[in-house]
Amino acid sequence: MDIYVNDITAKRSLVIVNSFLLVLHTCMLIFFACAGIRLMAYVNVFSVSFYALGFLLLKQEKTLLYMFVTFVEIMAHMFLAVVSVGWGFGFQLYFIGCLAIVFYVDYFSTRLGQYHFKGIVFSVVSALLYIAGLLVTRYREPLYPTDPRLEFAGLVINSVMVFTAVTLFFSILTMLATYYEEKLSYQATHDNLTGMVNRHYLVEHLESVYASQDMSRYWLAILDIDDFKGINDKYGHLCGDFALRSMAEKLREICGELTVCRWGGEEFVIVGPDDGSRRPEDILEEIRSSVACKDFEYDCSTTVNMTVTIGLACYREGQTLDEWINLADRRLYRGKQSGKNQVVCAGE
Ligand code: GH3
Ligand code: MG
Ligand code: MG
Repeated sequence: MDIYVNDITAKRSLVIVNSFLLVLHTCMLIFFACAGIRLMAYVNVFSVSFYALGFLLLKQEKTLLYMFVTFVEIMAHMFLAVVSVGWGFGFQLYFIGCLAIVFYVDYFSTRLGQYHFKGIVFSVVSALLYIAGLLVTRYREPLYPTDPRLEFAGLVINSVMVFTAVTLFFSILTMLATYYEEKLSYQATHDNLTGMVNRHYLVEHLESVYASQDMSRYWLAILDIDDFKGINDKYGHLCGDFALRSMAEKLREICGELTVCRWGGEEFVIVGPDDGSRRPEDILEEIRSSVACKDFEYDCSTTVNMTVTIGLACYREGQTLDEWINLADRRLYRGKQSGKNQVVCAGE
C-alpha cells in the first residue's frame, strides 16, 4: 500500500537511511566477491540492486512497501551470512542492530497513520533468527570455511557497521522527536493567525514571572478592537483576519521588547516593566492614535479603518494575577461604555 508522506523531514531521513544501506551492501558485495564467498556475493547483488531501486520507491512514495522489503532483505541477508561464514564474523550483530530499524519504522508508520507495522513482531523475528543462526553454527560447519584473520577482520568491520547504523538510526529518531516536540510546543503557545504568543503562554509566563520577580513596576493592558464585528460583516471574514494580522504587526512595531499576546478574538494583552524610558500611558496612547489614523489597505481595493480601546492596570502589591487582569478588563469596559477609541488608565 502506498503512503503519501507529506513531511519533508521524514522523507529526507528515509533517503539518508537508504543511502547508508546502499553503501553498506556495496562494501559487503566487494568483500564477499574478493573472499570467494559466492552465495553471499550473489545475495549482495540483489541487495545493492534493491537499495538502488529504493530511491525510486521512496520517490514514488511507496514507503511501506520499501520498509517491509528492507526488513526482509536484512533478515534474510544476515541469516545466510551467518550460515555461510560462521558465527565468528559477527553478522548476527545486525539482528540486534535491526531492533533500532524496526522500532524506527514502527514509530514512522504510526506517525503516518499506518498501524500495521509492529516493531515488537519484527524484533521477535530478529531474536528467533539470531537463535537459529546460533544453533546452526553450533552444530554445522560454515558453508565457506575462511581464514581466521579474515574472520577477525569481518568481525571488526561488522561491529563498526552495527554501531554506526544504530547511532545513525537513533540520531534520526532523536532529530525527529526534537523537531516535532518543538513544532507542537510552538503550536501550543502561539496563535496561528498572527504568530503572537497566545493566552495559554502568557498566563504561564506571568505565573512564573510572578513567582520570581519584583512585580511592582509591571503594567498590563488589554486592547480590544472597536466594532470589529462590523469589519467582518462589511468586508468579510478574510478581511477581518487581515485586520487582526495588521493589528498584530502594528503592536509589534510599537511595543518592541514588550510581551504582546493575542488574548482571544480581537483582544490583545500587552505586558511590560515600566523601566522609566517610556511611560505605559504614552506607549498605549501611541498605539491608539497610530491605529486610528492609519488606513489598512486590504487586497489593493479595500481600505479598513480601525480604532481600539485599551484598559491599563499597573501592578498593585498583593494583587493576584486574576485581580490584576480583571482591573485592566474593567477599565477597558469603561472605555467601551464611554465612547471607545480611548485609553483608560485610572479608576476601579
Ligand atoms: P466592541 O467594540 O464592543 O468590542 O464590539 P466588537 O464588534 O469588536 O465585539 P464583539 O465581541 O461583538 O465581536 C467580536 C467579533 O470578532 C466576533 C467574532 O466573529 C470576531 N472574531 C473573533 N475572532 C476572529 C478571527 O480570528 N477572525 C475574524 N475574522 N473574526 C474574528
Ligand atoms: Mg472583544
Ligand atoms: Mg471589540
